[in-house]
Amino acid sequence: MTRQREVILRELRKLTSHPTADELYLLVREHLPRISLGTIYRNLEELSAAGLIQKVEFGGGQRRFDGDITDHWHVKCTDCGRIADVSPDPESTAQVSLGSFRTEFELTGYRLELMGTCPACQQA
Ligand SMILES: [Zn+2]
Ligand SMILES: [Zn+2]
Repeated sequence: MTRQREVILRELRKLTSHPTADELYLLVREHLPRISLGTIYRNLEELSAAGLIQKVEFGGGQRRFDGDITDHWHVKCTDCGRIADVSPDPESTAQVSLGSFRTEFELTGYRLELMGTCPACQQA
């Protein structure tokens, strides 16, 4: 692993904010002043292909990155755009399953997009 990739991975793992490549670029530049945005993009793609980070893609939004590769979902604030982690409520008996959808496809998986208003925007 190159030094650049190491720094990108380390900075991303420190964050829970699911930054965009541009946001990460500003942080990584503090450690590697000569790095380019293109290098950040390329390294993020490679880290993601290697399974070391995950991409967070919400319809319409800019692609974001997550250093937490454990299985979890995301919720997006429709006011400020903030993205946070969500875990299923262990107490809940409600179920979303592949059987909930009508299609001629043989379904193999699904991705859930949750949206709402974050605590800070609820206060405002
Ligand atoms: Zn918000
Ligand atoms: Zn996450």
